[in-house]
Amino acid sequence: MKRVLVTGSSRGIGKAIALRLAEDGFAVVTHAVKNKDAAMEVAKECASISGQPLQEPLVFDLADREKTQTLLEADMEANGVFFGVVANAGIAADAPVPILEGDAWDSVIDTDLTGLYNVLKPVVMPMVSERIRGRIVALSSVSGVVGNRGQVNYSAAKAGIIGAVKALAVELVRHKITVNAVAPGVIETDMVSELPVEEVKKAIPMRRFGKPEEVAGVVAFLFREEAAYVTRQVISVNGGLC
Ligand code: NDP
Repeated sequence: MKRVLVTGSSRGIGKAIALRLAEDGFAVVTHAVKNKDAAMEVAKECASISGQPLQEPLVFDLADREKTQTLLEADMEANGVFFGVVANAGIAADAPVPILEGDAWDSVIDTDLTGLYNVLKPVVMPMVSERIRGRIVALSSVSGVVGNRGQVNYSAAKAGIIGAVKALAVELVRHKITVNAVAPGVIETDMVSELPVEEVKKAIPMRRFGKPEEVAGVVAFLFREEAAYVTRQVISVNGGLC
């Protein structure tokens, strides 16, 4: 049984990734910070698709290092180490710098960037010591690749994820664990529900938003055996946005 943790899988891109990995037979462990019931529904759907045992969702705030570590260690103790992690959960709090408050800077960095460390730290060593030739995928963003106006905090966090992924990929290469980032453009989820749709679409060469399933397909590819030689990369899924 190959267990895969998908953070932020109660909805949006994380939910699509969880369901897609379940199709490939992985035992998906779902996660949320608030919407435990939604994560439970996704967990049930995953178990029914994959045929793997149903597991209760993990519920923790990624920015809370101690709780993240405690819950992940307890989960691995009870259910075994992970084959892989999709570090998907994230938030945005957009504002141009003159009105970007310290709280918005801190919450985005703490959740999106420090949260990556908080979740990977407890999970990686057990993968190494059990000789799991697994997969780590982190969700960056087009905003972290090119920088977006009004997203200085989010662009910083998402660019930081790319640096972290590239460094960790080198650290883990001899253990045959691949580490990659996926950088979506604008994807139809709650996160972008307040964007001026028609205006934003004009900036996208494909003139449409992406679907969560289109990101999930790329993540699923990275989990396949034939992707074993793909590591330290940033793969964009953005309709030609950059
Ligand atoms: P959504 O807002 O739809 O979902 C966010 C998910 O993250 C939810 O499951 C939420 O849980 C969880 N989450 C939020 N805050 C925390 C926290 N503090 N601790 C733990 N979990 C948390 O996001 P998307 O699906 O749109 O985005 C998924 C990832 O993709 C994010 O990292 C995002 O930055 C990135 N991305 C998204 C793009 C887009 O256009 N949508 C573009 C580029 C990148 P709960 O339901 O409990 O609140």
